[in-house]
Amino acid sequence: MGKQDQTLQNTLHYFENARQHLALPRGVIAALQNPYREVEVSFPIVMDDNSIKIFHGYRVQHNNARGPFKGGLRFHPEVSMEKTMALAMLMTFKCSVADIPFGGAKGGITCDPKKLSISELKKITKRFTYEIAPIIGPDTDIPAPDVGTDSQVMSWIVDAYSMGGRKNEYAVVTGKPLDLYGSFVRDVATGLGCYFVIQETLEYLGSPKIFTKHSKVIVQGCGNAAIPIMKLLKKDEAKIIAVSDSQGGIFSQEGINIDSVLKTKKTAGSVTKCETGEIISNQQLLELPCDILVLAAMENQITKENADKIQAKIIFEPANAPVTPEADEILKKRGIIVVPDILASAGGVIVSYFEWVQNRQRDRWPEEKVKKRLKKQITTSCKEVLKIADDKKVDLRTAAYILGIGKVAKVMESRDIWP
Ligand code: GLU
Repeated sequence: MGKQDQTLQNTLHYFENARQHLALPRGVIAALQNPYREVEVSFPIVMDDNSIKIFHGYRVQHNNARGPFKGGLRFHPEVSMEKTMALAMLMTFKCSVADIPFGGAKGGITCDPKKLSISELKKITKRFTYEIAPIIGPDTDIPAPDVGTDSQVMSWIVDAYSMGGRKNEYAVVTGKPLDLYGSFVRDVATGLGCYFVIQETLEYLGSPKIFTKHSKVIVQGCGNAAIPIMKLLKKDEAKIIAVSDSQGGIFSQEGINIDSVLKTKKTAGSVTKCETGEIISNQQLLELPCDILVLAAMENQITKENADKIQAKIIFEPANAPVTPEADEILKKRGIIVVPDILASAGGVIVSYFEWVQNRQRDRWPEEKVKKRLKKQITTSCKEVLKIADDKKVDLRTAAYILGIGKVAKVMESRDIWP
């Protein structure tokens, strides 16, 4: 194991904060503080230039009291065991908040997919699948896409897992292409889910002042989560004044043209290649005055270093763990509302659950049905979180953790410790 990752400490801190509001048995607390299983594998791959490289992969299964382990696979240079543990823990609470019958897991490979060829990526994925095959499966642990992975990676996993088991097993992963028994809406589900959370929260808070037609929105990130949010908010006539990707951001006080920004991102590789608007850094983007700030990139973006400079009224977290606990405290003191990851990013795993159900039933739901059920599911969770926050006079993150931990704990308590 490498050095301790900040994300794990942060997640444990949020857990500790919330569990004080719950009367939990000691066994449950200790079990939730520690993942059930951590697997680390190292394997060689013959690269395109015939050199041999060793890759390190991880799968952490945090808790399965409520159902099979569930969570994405991340291909990124910063993937480590500690980070994977934190993200697995978040999945347990996310699935619980979303009220879907899954536990939490996460996995990944330390690599930079942008620097790998398709054939290298395929080999790495298939070999990794072979290595973790004994612990995954449609009834045990179901991976899905995350940062750096997509429906193509999921197809390779289906293939490797099915060939190894000599039986086609489509429900072993979710987030597959439509042709390979994926679900409608899964590709935009995280963004769409977050959009429903934005609508519900603003309505509940009675904040027409924030969410008027011309409210100013900043979006950090320009991937699968960010794009649908921008498109939907634009439809609502909100003004997206800034957006960024890993290379930097683009800003225009009058509002940026989303369609042309997305086109540039596709053709030139980065939003910073846009010809209109001012080029800014990711740091500058976070500190601009706005009504709504959407964090759709990576972990630890708002920290104690910049929390004082944030000028948003409300923050949504479709990314996992983008705000550190110190920053969370500062934002709270300054009256900035934060709608947490385990609620705002739950759309992806909710539609993953729908995909899994469709696979198990050998069925395909129409697009409208998936959207309607996603809206109902995530809006119900959002209402519950808002109510707990009101009743217990706590912030929304603590409320979401109270809801998530509480439901997992109930199941663990009724089943009791085995044997
Ligand atoms: N990677 C996504 C998340 O962090 C989706 C996980 C899934 O669908 O299993 O929520």
